[in-house]
Amino acid sequence: MSEMTNGCMVLPGDRVGSVEEYVPGQETYVRSGFIYASTTGTVEVDPETRSARVVPISNAPPRLEQGDIVVGEVVDMKESLVILSLAFKKGYEYRPLPDEEATIHISNVKNSYVKDLRQMFSLRDIIKARIVDDRQMRLTTGEDDLGVIKAYCSRCMTGLQRKESRLECPSCKHSETRKLSASYGLGVV
Ligand SMILES: [Zn+2]
Repeated sequence: MSEMTNGCMVLPGDRVGSVEEYVPGQETYVRSGFIYASTTGTVEVDPETRSARVVPISNAPPRLEQGDIVVGEVVDMKESLVILSLAFKKGYEYRPLPDEEATIHISNVKNSYVKDLRQMFSLRDIIKARIVDDRQMRLTTGEDDLGVIKAYCSRCMTGLQRKESRLECPSCKHSETRKLSASYGLGVV
């Protein structure tokens, strides 16, 4: 009989142990004297009661901390800051963030002075940024890899294509500027 260790990852139907060794706990079921996992998670054995349960893998949104890379959409623009609705944290693409908002102040857009924020960002832009303050959820795009990764033409809403340091609309040929990420248009974060 293989020994299931504490913290062992199991899938539904995986054998956790036998009823001679353990007491079946939460998220388990018994069949022919053996305990099986009824969900994906980790095994947790209580050393006192010998109860073996499966702790389901959490679908809760990941914690956002200083230094994390996040991706979000510009939902509002003020004189000196843009407001983003965050979509996800890098590495946790499949665990969406619920209604999390963040801001990028004009002083955190580039490493150099920015005079006009509207030359850097526009509504509906998808931006990749780093968290500099996880309490007030302030972000920076002051690295080559950070900035706009997808943008739309302000005239006709077509997706803009990169043309060297500028963006061009393939439909109406309108030219626009942004604080671009090095990975603009590559479809990768
Ligand atoms: Zn256009």
